[in-house]
Amino acid sequence: SAGQGDLPTEIWEKVKNHPCYSEEAHHHYARMHVAVAPACNIQCNYCNRKYDCANESRPGVVSEKLTPEQAAKKVLAVASTIPQMTVLGIAGPGDPLANPEKTFKTFELINRTAPDIKLCLSTNGLALPDHVDTIAGFNVDHVTITINMVDPEVGAKIYPWVFWKHKRYTGYEAAKLLTDRQMLGLEMLTERGILCKVNSVMIPGINDKHLVEVNRAVKSRGAFLHNIMPLISSPEHGTVFGLNGQRGPTAQELKALQDECEGEMNMMRHCRQCRADAVGLLGEDRSAEFTTDKIMAME
Ligand code: SF4
Ligand code: SF4
Repeated sequence: SAGQGDLPTEIWEKVKNHPCYSEEAHHHYARMHVAVAPACNIQCNYCNRKYDCANESRPGVVSEKLTPEQAAKKVLAVASTIPQMTVLGIAGPGDPLANPEKTFKTFELINRTAPDIKLCLSTNGLALPDHVDTIAGFNVDHVTITINMVDPEVGAKIYPWVFWKHKRYTGYEAAKLLTDRQMLGLEMLTERGILCKVNSVMIPGINDKHLVEVNRAVKSRGAFLHNIMPLISSPEHGTVFGLNGQRGPTAQELKALQDECEGEMNMMRHCRQCRADAVGLLGEDRSAEFTTDKIMAME
């Protein structure tokens, strides 16, 4: 992920100033997340709803939830304090597209008040096909989809249920629905020229062997970057994978899988799994400087 690598020039032009995609840019440009999206429409076995969504974030972190109006105010306050702030993302604490009114209201307010700020969002993909036109309309230039499987047999071990069109699905049927919607959403976005990154959580014994196949499936549908993240197991997170708990991969296992996928496409290796309310350069977290109390006191 050091430089342009194998990225086509038109994609590189779009991402070279983005702290998450360019190793170089991450020293010079800042990003922030606003936590405006509390609900989720699926259940991942590794998720604990008390904490931020693991689509992008480290587990065990509780971000400060904001209304769209508070979020827009915070973005302006941060942008005036940190001039390198170029990217605003919505990554939780639940799924941004399970809260479409809140997510899109936030984008609308920011497009109006700070039109130079680039927008991105992350999602589990279930609701994605329904919102692609809206996403394109707000000039969102990057979407991250968390895709942990393309085989519903594997998916049934990761997702106990999904909630879609007023109905709860479980087992194979739930995972089949999710993978079909994820693949469709990815195709729709890339057809419209919106950059798509795919995140996958590597879960030893569950999907570790399968992620090479996921890598192939997402590459063939136009994802420009694949970010394989380790499952981070922590006691307070609990687990429903097994009675003895589910371990995360070792650093060597993670690297071996990333290397195996490397020949296939660009792999992202410097994602920090930032909190849903992260502020600042990658690797630094200035969220404590911009709590709601402090923002609301600023004029
Ligand atoms: Fe939790 Fe995110 Fe999975 Fe929803 S998509 S269950 S918030 S990890
Ligand atoms: Fe960038 Fe990864 Fe942090 Fe998202 S979680 S802002 S992709 S470094």
